[in-house]
Amino acid sequence: MSMDTNMETHETTDTIERLESEVRSYCRMWPATFATARGSRIWDVDGNAYLDFFSGAGALNYGHNDPAMKRALLEHLADDGIVHSLDTTTVAKRRFLERFEEVILKPRGLDHKVMFPGPTGTNAVESAMKLARKITGREQVVGFTNAFHGMTIGSLAVSGNGAKRLGAGVALTSGTSVPYDGYFGDDVDTIAYLDALMDDSGSGFEKPAAVIVETVQAEGGINMCSREWLRALRELCTKHDVLLIVDDIQAGCGRTGTFFSYEFADIEPDIITLSKSLSGFGLPFAITTFRRELDVFNPGEHNGTFRGSNPAFVTATAALSRWDDDRLERSTAAKAEVVAAALDGLVEAYPDHVIERRGRGLLQGIECAPGIALAVAKHAFELGLIVETAGASDEVLKLLPALTISDDELNEGLGLIATSIADVVEARTPVAVG
Ligand SMILES: *Cc1c(COP(=O)(O)O)cnc(C)c1O
Repeated sequence: MSMDTNMETHETTDTIERLESEVRSYCRMWPATFATARGSRIWDVDGNAYLDFFSGAGALNYGHNDPAMKRALLEHLADDGIVHSLDTTTVAKRRFLERFEEVILKPRGLDHKVMFPGPTGTNAVESAMKLARKITGREQVVGFTNAFHGMTIGSLAVSGNGAKRLGAGVALTSGTSVPYDGYFGDDVDTIAYLDALMDDSGSGFEKPAAVIVETVQAEGGINMCSREWLRALRELCTKHDVLLIVDDIQAGCGRTGTFFSYEFADIEPDIITLSKSLSGFGLPFAITTFRRELDVFNPGEHNGTFRGSNPAFVTATAALSRWDDDRLERSTAAKAEVVAAALDGLVEAYPDHVIERRGRGLLQGIECAPGIALAVAKHAFELGLIVETAGASDEVLKLLPALTISDDELNEGLGLIATSIADVVEARTPVAVG
């Protein structure tokens, strides 16, 4: 490594420590200055390579700097294509919508309209709830235990994490939290519980505008709901005239195998939110889609300066080429089996430290004994793997490799996790004396 590179590392770090707010968090787990990335590999300024099992928290399902998306973006810029457009009509926006209809909506029989709510996931969630409230004239939105829907006030009101809710600094009164599938174990039907509350005028339960759900709670610890549960939730919402919002910001865009994560249950949500991997390239981008007849918005009733980010339209359109056939879906299913087998092996090998495997598709993880998952993730970084934790007390090691990762890289990363666990467990095992 050259002296220059080295000096730059330290200066950069100092400037960040001096200037950037203490609110930053991921950099504490991964203390490097990252410089370049390609596919599933990231390099820091010192030339160290890391395998990426984090994928921008699910914003990089197609890996870093996908060549086809990059080419489309560079061409758009080279041609002086529109970059910023609010909600005026642009060529890039029309192309995105044409492709989205052709590749995603039509094949799934979805007669949905598409709204551009602003560039982030929480923008999509806020707009979804705003729409549900306008349609029903009701205020409450039901969210589930351990849910995560974003960091703005409305989204926090339907999120579970106590520390994040506290950060709001105001009472979060517009959401009601109810138990997710399996919250009380396998024997308690939490949909029957919700149904009873909604049926009984003496329950004290305010009828909500909508129920918002993640089919796999990614941030909340990779808790997943069953097909039967999700189907029952759909029926419950229809029965009570409550809108069903599927927040597919993290589990969507192929993360669980299918484009939408709810497809395994053969249901149709009323409203869907997408963001994270929607642009395909890591550019900020979100949409909210809803059944055509739910489009009761007045012009400008929801607004935002960055609803027309054409670079994101361009890369998102290129990303949709991955969905022209079922190759990605099939390869994700195959890779998911490899991950499941490896994680099952860890549960078996370390019964005192690894409790269970969770998740589906390439959104899987292992619940660990207290302190283990965080220690494993930190040590994995020293071994050259970027992997994070999830759950209210960071009890789950969460694997989020790119869907496009090669089999060799996938096995390499799984091997590094196995090594990291072995090292962490060994360091914690008291040495026998005598
Ligand atoms: C990340 C995430 C959000 C929030 O998206 P931001 O872009 O961070 O605002 C909302 N819902 C789910 C399920 C998410 O994973």
